[in-house]
Amino acid sequence: MTQSLRPLIAGNWKMFGTNAFASDLAGSLADKMSEAGNDVADLLLCPPTPLLGAVRSSVGDERIALGGQDCHAAEQGAHTGDVSAAMLHDAGCAFVIVGHSERRADHGENNATVNAKANAAQVAGLVPIVCIGETLEEREAGRAVDVVTGQLRSSVPKGSTALNIIIAYEPVWAIGTGKVPALDDIAKVHDAIRSALNDVSGDAESVRILYGGSVKPNNAIEILSLDNVNGALVGGASLKADEFWAIAEAAF
Ligand code: PEP
Repeated sequence: MTQSLRPLIAGNWKMFGTNAFASDLAGSLADKMSEAGNDVADLLLCPPTPLLGAVRSSVGDERIALGGQDCHAAEQGAHTGDVSAAMLHDAGCAFVIVGHSERRADHGENNATVNAKANAAQVAGLVPIVCIGETLEEREAGRAVDVVTGQLRSSVPKGSTALNIIIAYEPVWAIGTGKVPALDDIAKVHDAIRSALNDVSGDAESVRILYGGSVKPNNAIEILSLDNVNGALVGGASLKADEFWAIAEAAF
């Protein structure tokens, strides 16, 4: 891991949970955080929007940030079912995931949409976590690095800084499948992302780059030890306090 960058472990709860589940999970993590003090990674929870309130009250003053899973690019308007970045900010969020491959696939989001959402998030004072990643077909064609760096250049607002952007490299074929790229392959893509960041940010060396895709307690240490891996975006394992915490401990 790039030692100077504090690791971030982010949990993407996707469309799972109830208020009771959210209070329980966030409360357990807050208890663990309170015992651990400062010697643990930064933690971020991204629950479904209706559960933000329950998570916010359960984490209390503990060092656990809140994030949304998506936002609209517009400030406000007639967009039934959407939430704006400002609404997430008002609900206590400091971060928002944009461009997750499930959004790109289910909602037809492209790099331009993701760029506009990331920009709206920055304007509202949120840090967007911009997700990029190749499909299995693209990897097998030897195009992973080209695809991912292309997505990066088009999805990340120009002039982003380490304070207002985070990148998540998530190979689409590794999400929710239990499959993980070879460590060398993860390292190669993260190194390429670090270089390509120079095209969109004057702060490339300090931008955190997370890896996501079937991160579990049993593979977290080796993934999080790689250079240019500055944390993880965790789906399935973020729904269990012990697993998520074990990943957080692996990061520090
Ligand atoms: C994700 O949803 O971003 C993700 C990485 O999921 P999982 O950890 O379950 O593969």
